[in-house]
Amino acid sequence: MINRDILTKFLEKKLNIKKYEDYCPNGLQVEGRSKINVIITGVTASLDLIKTAVDMKADAILVHHGYFWRGEDFNVIGINKKRLEQLIMNKINLYVYHLPLDMHPRLGNNAQLAKILNFSCTRRFSKNNIGWIGKIINFKKYNFQEIITIKDLFNHITRKIGRKPIVIGNLDKKIDEIGWCTGAAQNLLIDAINAGVSAYISGEISESTVYTSRESGVAYFAAGHHATERYGIKALGEYLEKKFKINNYFIDIDNII
Ligand SMILES: [Zn+2]
Repeated sequence: MINRDILTKFLEKKLNIKKYEDYCPNGLQVEGRSKINVIITGVTASLDLIKTAVDMKADAILVHHGYFWRGEDFNVIGINKKRLEQLIMNKINLYVYHLPLDMHPRLGNNAQLAKILNFSCTRRFSKNNIGWIGKIINFKKYNFQEIITIKDLFNHITRKIGRKPIVIGNLDKKIDEIGWCTGAAQNLLIDAINAGVSAYISGEISESTVYTSRESGVAYFAAGHHATERYGIKALGEYLEKKFKINNYFIDIDNII
């Protein structure tokens, strides 16, 4: 059991949330009960996730994508009302960590994606060093097939993430350094090209991404926004479970994007 205000302060410091200018408020977005014993983690604070938390009698939900995004309708009507009503009526705290979770060097989305894909990070790129660059490690130790070409990397990502990415590029081309940044970071492909990678992985893809990839010769993988951002919040929940001896459950609400 942990006190809500102590957890709020702890996470504020742990994820260094004051450091980031973000598209949404980070930290406790919706206040629930003051004692927390059961936490649910998930990628997005959708109604399905909230209903699961209600069924599981959770005291708090921790997500990467919360509410009050810049440019969004803030009126508490329609979908907003349904979500907030469920949280408030059931006294469930909602904690949201967007950029602070992308950026955390160990629990963050890029760090955790690297862990899942067995990438070592050697350097960073783009604004605030948000993008990571590295190579695949230890393929022999883990009995992987040697990853030499874009096609090998496609098979590797498919196996590790459990879904086929969209890939743009010559499948027979050899790869050297790989860049990655989870979620909707397809626009960082240009920065990844300028940083000299031979392949770049993110979650989503835009129409223009295809031409940028083709015309630069740098392969692009859209491995899923949701799929690439499952791992940070999951790692955060597991970390809090150990640290504060609370019960944590990661709930994966399916999302094809
Ligand atoms: Zn995202």
